[in-house]
Amino acid sequence: MNERFVDLHTHTIASDGTATPAELVRAAKEAGIAILAVTDHDTTAGVAPACEAAQAVGITLIAGVELSAEGAPGKCHLLALGIDPDHDELNATLAALAAARRARNVKIIARLQALGVAITMDEVAAAAPPGANIGRPHFAQVLVAKGIVPDTQSAFNRYLADSAAAYVDRESLSPAEAIALTHRAGGVCLLAHPGLVRLADHETEEGRIRALTALGLDGVEAFYSGHTPAQEARFVRIAERLGLLTSGGSDFHGAHKPATPLGIVRDGTRLTADRVAPLLQRVGVSDAPA
Ligand code: AMP
Ligand code: ZN
Ligand code: FE
Ligand code: FE
Repeated sequence: MNERFVDLHTHTIASDGTATPAELVRAAKEAGIAILAVTDHDTTAGVAPACEAAQAVGITLIAGVELSAEGAPGKCHLLALGIDPDHDELNATLAALAAARRARNVKIIARLQALGVAITMDEVAAAAPPGANIGRPHFAQVLVAKGIVPDTQSAFNRYLADSAAAYVDRESLSPAEAIALTHRAGGVCLLAHPGLVRLADHETEEGRIRALTALGLDGVEAFYSGHTPAQEARFVRIAERLGLLTSGGSDFHGAHKPATPLGIVRDGTRLTADRVAPLLQRVGVSDAPA
């Protein structure tokens, strides 16, 4: 059997990855990936150039976006796959989120400066590729480059992580809004990296996924680079019980996450198309060898 490798969760310089869309597609081709989804945070700007590159090298590209959601039943990341990247309402919403993100970035700078860290918005903007959706990894990059912290993880632990000293919350869609918007844009909506979702004390993984399913969630990213084999198995079982699709991806960010290579889901395992065949079918991609 001709196994086809897939990666349905990747980032480019359009958000906080370090590869251009074309570089990402070429790297995927070299890694033997046949089906690739580009899922930048809150932007579809990388999709069109990635599609063009994918056609040139002969791999299948799925248009996607990773939406940060906040509100009931809790904070999470949602992957929208198979969307129309030119959908007007989707892009208008993403543009509004980008504006909110820029306002937030200025507040992060103010907090860092108040903490005595010498850093300016211009330095962060200069560290990011032109047109990038600037996010915390770009702040981390500058903090490392200036020798303020030894590495990216320390930058998050000391300053940027969700409850760290310079953290500023960002305007987000609610899960219900993100799911409905994904559907209106023609996509399927999946809970990203369910193993990384922070649950409240009274919550269970399955309870959270049930609550999202009631809002229209289509599936869960059971196969993920940061999951343990036990987590993977657990989320596959939950998906089966709830009649949800399963998805999978690396969450590749290039040099920003050097320990996360393209196409690897956990423990060096490569994701094959057959594991996510129903999802591929739902987004109009045949999992049969081309
Ligand atoms: P932002 O979009 O600005 O909120 O940044 C989100 C990105 O920051 C995520 O995609 C991760 O790459 C990174 N990130 C968030 N929290 C952490 C953390 N605690 N440690 C390392 N990286 C993180
Ligand atoms: Zn990211
Ligand atoms: Fe995420
Ligand atoms: Fe991601």
